[in-house]
Amino acid sequence: MSETAPINQADADYNGLTLALSKGRILKETLPLLAAAGIELLEDPAKSRKLIFPTSHEAVRILILRASDVPTYVEHGAADFGVAGKDVLLEYGAKHVYELLDLKIAQCKLMTAGIKGATLPSRRLRIATKYVNVARAYFASQGQQVDIIKLYGSMELAPLVSLGDLIVDVVDTGNTLRANGLEPLELIADISSRLIVNQVSYKRKFDLLAPILESFKHSVGE
Ligand code: AMP
Repeated sequence: MSETAPINQADADYNGLTLALSKGRILKETLPLLAAAGIELLEDPAKSRKLIFPTSHEAVRILILRASDVPTYVEHGAADFGVAGKDVLLEYGAKHVYELLDLKIAQCKLMTAGIKGATLPSRRLRIATKYVNVARAYFASQGQQVDIIKLYGSMELAPLVSLGDLIVDVVDTGNTLRANGLEPLELIADISSRLIVNQVSYKRKFDLLAPILESFKHSVGE
């Protein structure tokens, strides 16, 4: 890691590239792709309260955001590009951004799940989830009218305390479901992280972006 950050990366009139990432799985799995593109964080976001991070690449700085805010920053041009889960893109929509590349990281499945072995009631089902738009569209596509109960986390708890008959959540190993006596039921979508780019930045900053995009493509085998 370099000792000195380029001085302009925290400035409001910064005119390099701003990359939006989220903490956790996406950050961890994006780091090797960034390293291959010559971009290394100068500080560990896990050990810092900062939100803007300089990198070893003098024309790239990184914002660490809530996952669901990444498309918003990119859409408005507050970040030039970002890495967002397909689940987030499906749920929040991402108008006016280019979804350029499937990075094939943070892979999981968006699924319905319910109490293991339980018979569903014949009345209209109640679905507890933070993916309200995805859930509504999915059940409508199945010709099923449902009531959606909006949650912000710990969806696995809901059916155990009769808050909803089913949940819609992302599932990786299924361990969290199993640990709570639930089982995965129907697959809604295969999920992985996508590289999204602001449409204006793609044109105006193409010279800066192109080598990074090429490196990412090479890393993911495209
Ligand atoms: P699991 O491996 O199925 O027990 O996953 C553990 C928890 O991590 C689940 O409840 C999900 O909410 C979350 N999770 C798993 N994979 C991802 C992913 N790719 N992106 C975001 N959250 C995930």
